[in-house]
Amino acid sequence: MSAPPAGLTPGVWADVIGQPDVVAELQAAVAQPASMTHAWLFTGPPGSGRSVAARAFAAALQCPQGGDGTCHACRTALSGSHADVHRVVPEGLSIGVAEVRELVRVAGRAPSQGRWQIIVVEDADRMTEQAGNTVLKMLEEPPPRTVFLLCAPSLHPDDVPVTIRSRCRVVGLRTPPVDAVAEVLVRRDGIDPALAAWSAAAAGGHVGRARHLARDESARLARKAVLDIPLSLVSLAACLNAADDLVGSAKEESDRATAAVDGVETDAVKASLGVGARGPGVAAASRGAGVLKELEKRQKSRATRLGRDSLDRALVDLAALYRDALVISVVEASAGETPVTLAHPDRRADAAELARRIGPEGALRRIDAILAARTAVEQNVKPQIAIEALTVALRLPA
Ligand SMILES: [Zn+2]
Repeated sequence: MSAPPAGLTPGVWADVIGQPDVVAELQAAVAQPASMTHAWLFTGPPGSGRSVAARAFAAALQCPQGGDGTCHACRTALSGSHADVHRVVPEGLSIGVAEVRELVRVAGRAPSQGRWQIIVVEDADRMTEQAGNTVLKMLEEPPPRTVFLLCAPSLHPDDVPVTIRSRCRVVGLRTPPVDAVAEVLVRRDGIDPALAAWSAAAAGGHVGRARHLARDESARLARKAVLDIPLSLVSLAACLNAADDLVGSAKEESDRATAAVDGVETDAVKASLGVGARGPGVAAASRGAGVLKELEKRQKSRATRLGRDSLDRALVDLAALYRDALVISVVEASAGETPVTLAHPDRRADAAELARRIGPEGALRRIDAILAARTAVEQNVKPQIAIEALTVALRLPA
């Protein structure tokens, strides 16, 4: 385990991995409360730790010592129980105006015990237009002790309206280096060093994904199944089978994740409504039906999102294997012996075989097809249809 560089106390920043410039910038802001910026936008590629950085910043702002990581303010802010740090996380496909109104109400209050009233909006790119307008009004005239921390992936910067972005100080995170991710898996999660190194490399510096791969064997098997697809696509039947597998396992994963929470949630709501107890009055019963229907709608939206996210992850993995093939064929063509960094270093042999069979143009064409499929799914094309079209386009030449 490497010690932190001299002069830098990790404190609340310990889990902000591989972002020394960002940490320095945020520490400087904490040290200058008089010139505080009231709206920040944390952006970076998926897995770079946007929300982790935002949370650490929130803790440092509330901490009387500027983020020692050990006091009550630091601990509660990091664990999500600080009274003056509020998080908005979309459960479904979007952050609606009702969630944002509640947040605006809170934002208008003076901090109850901390130094700041802090509002963290994760996935700010998922705010509906109406919700975005409500936040914008707040950013135009922020209350003096209120700080907004918005997080959004940098892949689609346009997803956060420019009217909001222009009022924010932008903090850009980068993909953390693989060895920094591995180090954190060992230190914080107690993962065996060899497995940590493999998972960090296989996840390409995506911290959450690396942790998931390291901890969960079924995640490793799912990744293997996805990366086995390109070389299996030798016939139309194989293409259709692969599409079934991709869509099926995404659905399975989201079913598993939702089953765990849906039942508990529904029971809790039923209990609070008195459903199933001695017959409620007619008015209460119809109100209850409305609440349950609303809950069902929310759960369905969440399941759709989880299913899409899982499918999207598989597509990103696939695209990366074709990218590896592209890199290998270009490097070989230029007769260079430069060692290239692959997205899936453990599948180098597959990438080389693909490179041999489809060449650089074939790899490029397939990467384009995958991007098109991701867009289609995002735009509500039925996954089965989008993915069948994709796997047929990925078919190997005879
Ligand atoms: Zn502290």
